[in-house]
Amino acid sequence: MNSSYLPSNILYIDLSNNKFWIEERPEVFEQYLGGTGVAIQLLKEQCPPGCDPFSPENPIILAIGPLTGLFPLASKTIAMFKSPHTGNLGESHCGGRSAIAIRLAGYGAIVIKGRSSNPTYLAIHNDKIHFRDASTIWGMESVFTVGRIIRENEPGSGLRTIMRIGSAGEREVTYASVTTETYRHFGRLGLGAVFGSKRLKALVISGKHSLNIKDKTSYQKLYDDVYQSAVNSPVMQKYHDLGTAENILPLNEIGGLPIKNLQLTRFEDAQKISGEVMAREYLGRRLACSHCPIGCIHIAALREPYGDEPYFYKTSMICYDYEPMYALGTILGISEPESYLKLMDEVEKRGLDSMSTGVVLAWATEAFEKGIITQNETNGIQLRWGDYKNYIEAVKSIVNKTNEFFHALAKGVDYAASQYGGKEFALSFMGNEMPGYHTGPAAHIGVFIGARHSHLDNAGYGIDQKILVNRHLTPTELVEQLLTEEYWRQILSSLTICFFARGVYTPKIVRNTLHSVGYDLTENDLRKIGEEIHHEKYKFKTREGFHIDDYHIPNRIFDTPTPIGQFNRDFLIDAVKILKEKISEW
Ligand code: SF4
Repeated sequence: MNSSYLPSNILYIDLSNNKFWIEERPEVFEQYLGGTGVAIQLLKEQCPPGCDPFSPENPIILAIGPLTGLFPLASKTIAMFKSPHTGNLGESHCGGRSAIAIRLAGYGAIVIKGRSSNPTYLAIHNDKIHFRDASTIWGMESVFTVGRIIRENEPGSGLRTIMRIGSAGEREVTYASVTTETYRHFGRLGLGAVFGSKRLKALVISGKHSLNIKDKTSYQKLYDDVYQSAVNSPVMQKYHDLGTAENILPLNEIGGLPIKNLQLTRFEDAQKISGEVMAREYLGRRLACSHCPIGCIHIAALREPYGDEPYFYKTSMICYDYEPMYALGTILGISEPESYLKLMDEVEKRGLDSMSTGVVLAWATEAFEKGIITQNETNGIQLRWGDYKNYIEAVKSIVNKTNEFFHALAKGVDYAASQYGGKEFALSFMGNEMPGYHTGPAAHIGVFIGARHSHLDNAGYGIDQKILVNRHLTPTELVEQLLTEEYWRQILSSLTICFFARGVYTPKIVRNTLHSVGYDLTENDLRKIGEEIHHEKYKFKTREGFHIDDYHIPNRIFDTPTPIGQFNRDFLIDAVKILKEKISEW
């Protein structure tokens, strides 16, 4: 193939010695496409077995793909690292302008290792790399302020992204996130804490390169096909109109919406916090990631009185979608949009993953209610369902690790429950806090067997909807379906395609788009590559100490009925057995 179409330059950065170098690695992009496929190869090369996630040796890998900048919705950057939250595979995807900025700066991947002696931020402007002193912004708790200051400091022309951490990342809360472009995140599994451990406050990337394409006429036609398919898709229209916030009412209707730490699955106040109400009453603007014609990012405008003077108001712009609405809303019994938005603003500002934060707070509230912990542990904060003001205080205490209890909460719900009890209502799957779908066995088995224990690994909740309508699935069929979906998602994430566009990027479209940048792969070749990437990720995870036999799923998941009925433990045991047989062949 003609590798000049590929984003094959890798930028290596050594923070310990303020050094950088560039290597051309077309072979890795030819074989593994980009994104996830390339990132797992680089992680294997760069992460020594057993390394401490907070050691300088833990690499941060950022990778984009061959379609980035060329086709709509190839908008994500894939981050890989060893997760301080689970101790094994860390993988997180983020949009904004990140992917296209990396590509236009001339890179397919960036590898960051080492630890800076002083707080630093990196400015990458095409092939100019600057290690900037970040002492004056280190200690700034808000990612919003940090973004504003860097925007003013870095003129960088061309397409620019600013990735940065808040106080949660600096203080190594294991579920700290990295924010880009104010409203997008590398949310899950603690990339923000890895930035913090390297004393890396931010990363600015801008680029002005142009991209090559071999046959402009057929490219233009294919581009138009993909574009039209995206803008005419009813599914994409849904993402544009209400966003994933639309899920609140249907999930509540079927009884799959986690309420009050999953003690319930229907919320009498669901209407009040629905996507429809949010759009009608609060929607201030919509945004899109670069090169996305959809624009699913919904920003609420929250207007509040400011100071004592009459007619003075401040308006905060706060991003919302289903997952934070679940994690900082329904699972905490919060039914007022304004309360949810204020809590969300605090979590965003400090740079925490909203899902992990919400699940941790839900566990703490139930533990408080049951008397497992008291005001002695919470420093006097009364944790009560729906009480957003006290939740804001608790968030601050987690980030500041104000005592031993909040120190434990800063390591996630699994760790906190191991120290204080309440493990059977600690909603975690192998160390990662639960997403907002109690829809049936596929959702939970999907998160449990997924390579990074994320609902986005294989979207089991989608399979549950089919079971709900159609029929029963055997454990073998279920595991097969989950793995097939997960294999295909490795291709999409290697091409850094937004998963919302998975219906647009059919195997045929993927083949054709790849053909236009020089690959000649059949659908069967693609499936094999997807399978191999998945197995590589799984092998990394087991190399770092993950054993499927150590699994634990809290009783609460089994006790609270799903829309398909009670999740059966025997079904799970059978599924694990089947998965183990498969793993032995990988
Ligand atoms: S659909 Fe949404 S998340 Fe996906 S690329 Fe577009 S704006 Fe970004």
